[in-house]
Amino acid sequence: MSKRVLVIGELNVDLIVSGLASLPELGRELVCTDISRALGSSSAIFSRALAGLGAQVGFMGMVGDDENGRFMVDQLREMKIDTSDVIVDPRTQTGITISLTYPSEKAQITYPGSIAAYRPEDVNLGAFNRYGHLHMASMYLQAGLRPGVPGLLRRAQELGLSTSLDPGWDPANRWGQDLFDALEAVDVLFLNEHETRAIGGGSSTPVGQSLLEIAARLGRGGLALCKLGAGGAMMATGSELVQVEAHPVAVVDTTGAGDSFDAGFVFSHVVQGRSEVEALHFANACGAIAVTRVGGASSVPRAAEVDKFLAAHGVGS
Ligand code: ADP
Repeated sequence: MSKRVLVIGELNVDLIVSGLASLPELGRELVCTDISRALGSSSAIFSRALAGLGAQVGFMGMVGDDENGRFMVDQLREMKIDTSDVIVDPRTQTGITISLTYPSEKAQITYPGSIAAYRPEDVNLGAFNRYGHLHMASMYLQAGLRPGVPGLLRRAQELGLSTSLDPGWDPANRWGQDLFDALEAVDVLFLNEHETRAIGGGSSTPVGQSLLEIAARLGRGGLALCKLGAGGAMMATGSELVQVEAHPVAVVDTTGAGDSFDAGFVFSHVVQGRSEVEALHFANACGAIAVTRVGGASSVPRAAEVDKFLAAHGVGS
């Protein structure tokens, strides 16, 4: 039977504001042409992408007893994700990110609420044995959960689960001991170029070398992957580096591409048991498909669609 995947993470909505003529200014009022609510949070986007590919997924996290929390839980349930361990806590409010979008950039404001309120002691450790893999993301946004991340990953490994982590950017740019403790209990690590340089050898070190150094710190000979946007992706396995070029596609919206990439790798390598290199190609295709669609989280491909994309682009699986 294929591995069921547990995601422990943050739940927040994105309020996307578009059609702004300028940046906001103190003392002025700005009118926008559109405002919409969308699934936010890296962990939720990853979960939907993974379930869309065909995996069985369960989610542990927290929402407030409010309309945004119900929206997030509904979005997970729509993809048949098990939400029985999502806590609805009336003492907190579901997290919100307001995203002011401009043609090539966005400015964001986040109210953490439930994102920061979820703590390690809220996690249902008793349910770990229902799963074969644990994925965690965005540890720096989750102030309450963060000190417990290394322990949760270690506990999962002790119970026989494989693990993956996409830590995300540390806004304080400190990259403290909790990350390095976590790495020792990670089988698959996902980073982008900035994160790889920050955690690895610094800005003057080639990204591949930094990735190899980071991979050496992972427990059980784990894999470190670096997502390079339009530059494709790189993977360090032991002392070897493998790089794939990005597929030439018409980019519409890059939101969620990194999470779709992570989901593709976990699905192919962990759930389907394909080789590391096959999984890298599969993940690269998932990222490419995500950038061709508005809102990476809303329309997620099935595995067969990704295989078809790979075949059409001359990559055998
Ligand atoms: P993150 O959101 O974590 O920074 P990236 O922007 O690097 O992630 O995108 C993740 C993956 O999606 C890339 O590694 C690549 O496989 C794919 N991808 C991203 N941008 C493009 C693009 N412009 N063209 C084709 N593929 C892309």
